[in-house]
Amino acid sequence: MSDELLITLKTVFGYGSFRPLQREIIEASLAGRDVFALLPTGGGKSLCFQLPALHRTGLTIVVSPLIALMKDQVDQLQAAGVAATFLNSSLSAPEARSRLSGLHRNEWRLLYVSPERLLLDDWQENLRAWNVAAIAIDEAHCISEWGHDFRPEYRQLAKLRDLMPDVPLSAFTATATERVRQDISTHLKLRQPAVFVASFNRPNLSYRVQPKNDPLKQLLAFLKNREDESGIVYCTTRAATERLAEALSGRGYSARAYHAGLESDERARNQDLFLRDEVHIICATIAFGMGINKPNVRWVVHYDLPKNLAGYYQETGRAGRDGLPADCLLLFSGGDIAKHAHFVDQITDDRERQIARTQLSEMSHYAEGSTCRRSELLRYFNEVFPVDNCGACDNCTEPRETYDGTLPAQKFLSCVYRVRQASRFGTGMLHIVEVLTGAETERIQRFGHDKLSTYGIGRDMSRPQWIAVGRELMRLGFVAQAEGEFPVLELTAEGMEFLKHRRKLRLTKPMETPRAKKALPRAGAIECDEILLARLKSLRKRLADQRGVPAYVVFGDATLRQLARQYPESVDQMDGIFGMGEKKKAEFGPAFAEAIAEYLQSNGRLAFD
Ligand code: ADP
Ligand code: ZN
Repeated sequence: MSDELLITLKTVFGYGSFRPLQREIIEASLAGRDVFALLPTGGGKSLCFQLPALHRTGLTIVVSPLIALMKDQVDQLQAAGVAATFLNSSLSAPEARSRLSGLHRNEWRLLYVSPERLLLDDWQENLRAWNVAAIAIDEAHCISEWGHDFRPEYRQLAKLRDLMPDVPLSAFTATATERVRQDISTHLKLRQPAVFVASFNRPNLSYRVQPKNDPLKQLLAFLKNREDESGIVYCTTRAATERLAEALSGRGYSARAYHAGLESDERARNQDLFLRDEVHIICATIAFGMGINKPNVRWVVHYDLPKNLAGYYQETGRAGRDGLPADCLLLFSGGDIAKHAHFVDQITDDRERQIARTQLSEMSHYAEGSTCRRSELLRYFNEVFPVDNCGACDNCTEPRETYDGTLPAQKFLSCVYRVRQASRFGTGMLHIVEVLTGAETERIQRFGHDKLSTYGIGRDMSRPQWIAVGRELMRLGFVAQAEGEFPVLELTAEGMEFLKHRRKLRLTKPMETPRAKKALPRAGAIECDEILLARLKSLRKRLADQRGVPAYVVFGDATLRQLARQYPESVDQMDGIFGMGEKKKAEFGPAFAEAIAEYLQSNGRLAFD
């Protein structure tokens, strides 16, 4: 049985091996069990319900919240020769009717449907008549109010279990905290589901943080040698996305803006141009991304500070779905933190403000920290990254310099202590730094903090340097921000210990200037003949345009790279090429073989090892 799965994987999807947990999920599903699967973006969830659908008799229903995604997936399945269709509100009445009668004739193996559509009028009879063998719920976190994307229609899905108690259910998501996980299981009434949780590590993504001083210039430097790659720049404000798209267009890049304030026509058009590789860069607010299935996004730049780490993980996660290397760059400045902190302080609800504050400090710890970015991100999902050096983040490949920070740490901590002792109230970071550097502010004089023994003992360092020290001490747990109306600094027990015992301490040099622009190593890159690749890409585009589908429906980048590396001049030589299933080989193989043969008439082959 296992070999049959592998054969389908090869002949239909054109892949040589399963991604982690795919086989296990598929086998559990074919054994008739309920399944709960938590896989990161790009982990290959779709295959987990698509492939088993081809190995069972009857119809597999896929519930999906996003109309655009349905068409996309069905296009891709049809290109691979799978009898798949979808039903949603975008179809004309005659078209929907024709698909419905196809379902009654059992013509389809897979039906994608939105939850509201599935549970419409005569659905009960329909489901019985259609010989439904399995139901897969994609984006299952939409069922939970605790998720970030609650869809009330998803709650209706609970009825499925009662109506069809014998049909196994499987639930898939990329985002689930323990609470959301519980919700999914309860609301769908999963029965002793086989549970699969994959690692959230995205090994093909590299992570880098740069201090932001001249962001446009930094972005342009980043874009050098990335002219033909697709990428997303995330900005906080709508206006910023438009300004940036204009600035980039003015410099010859094909860039468009995307935010919730655009007319829906324009928004759809810009997104479509990006999906079709006609526009390479989208400058977007976080409104962009949910449901963007584009596999060849090669980079994501955060022009402004993301709100929290979960969001940062999701947004960077849109890069490199195809498994090829992709780069994530975060431009970070203390000013951005201050801006966010200002918004956070204005939140009136106590609990919400506290949550936002915690999230902001987690975010800034990530950005300023000197430990592996990957392990920090994974730690956020309670996952321990088992390797010391990930080899693909700035902190691992270019470790930050450290210095003997014993004295500055003592000065800072004792200043926090003195201020607190003298006034019986705490103050924020800025005030501490002003006392240390001997500022003559009205507040300092009013509280008499200029009389403290720690007043002015830190004149040898600049304020930004002191702030960096303060933040690192926070990260190390020596001081903490007290909960309350204002973020007030307090010495922790560890901080007291440190002062008492005069321990030695090494601190990290702050990131003051952009570090050497050495490219991070790209794990898993497929070396190939780049000139041939460019030709194959334009052929792919032509074929895709003729069919009115995005380029990746024809072939993904990894497939083109393999072609531009192995130079198959006939379809027979294309066996084993990644992403080359039987149907696609028959349909597109000859055109690509011809293009390669023609290229070889005037170009030599390059050798790759
Ligand atoms: P998810 O929904 O989990 O984010 P997708 O199902 O969209 O991920 O898959 C991401 C990409 O990986 C797609 O381009 C898909 O075709 C590809 N993929 C899935 N499974 C495999 C596999 N076993 N080998 C190679 N590529 C795969
Ligand atoms: Zn690392």
